[in-house]
Amino acid sequence: KSFEDFTVDNDIINNLKQCGFEEPTPIQKQAVPLMLQGRQILACAPTGSGKTAAFLVPVIQSLKGPQKQGFRALILCPTRELAKQTQRECDRLADGRGFRVHIISKIKKAMTQYNPNGSQKYDILVTTPNRLCYLLKQDPPALSLRNVEWLIIDEADKLFESGVRGFREQLTDILKACDNENRKIAMFSATYTPVVAKWCVHNMKGLVRITI
Ligand code: AMP
Repeated sequence: KSFEDFTVDNDIINNLKQCGFEEPTPIQKQAVPLMLQGRQILACAPTGSGKTAAFLVPVIQSLKGPQKQGFRALILCPTRELAKQTQRECDRLADGRGFRVHIISKIKKAMTQYNPNGSQKYDILVTTPNRLCYLLKQDPPALSLRNVEWLIIDEADKLFESGVRGFREQLTDILKACDNENRKIAMFSATYTPVVAKWCVHNMKGLVRITI
């Protein structure tokens, strides 16, 4: 299977090649077609396997272009450094589509940045859960996830490890905020973790598991 076998637009294939990606990696071969079909997945793939592009390609393809509806994809990462890397890869793979890919940086600024009009200009949000949940907890919430179609959880094993029940509670709040019937979840984990698998079984209808 090559990138041309994916049902994605040529500009994305060109962007992949611009990144130096000539052939899909095993995780990309499995995850991209499933996510393009709208399936929810739990993918166990080690770091370095190309998992970032595995979720970015279908997200970019399915969002098509900017629609000024606010955030339509949310990518959760365990660290700010990983969030920044993911944002950079997203900018490269979505080059030419005009998406606004946003990272929550200063909380103080963020408190006023996503007012009902301001937030419309962003399409994709990449963040750590702590910052996001702080903003969601404000009354009224400082940002809206109402239109999120894809929730991507990257390095889920690390996120679920971070503190006693901490991330699970955050995830409950985040899911409540992503309040629309089209919302789908793709979970990526470097290792197979029973806690992660159990959460997926309970929260992801029609779940497909992939292991590399
Ligand atoms: P990741 O697992 O997403 O952190 O990716 C690991 C590294 O592989 C990154 O430096 C990517 O830029 C690179 N990469 C991702 N997909 C491909 C591909 N299809 N061909 C070559 N390199 C890739």
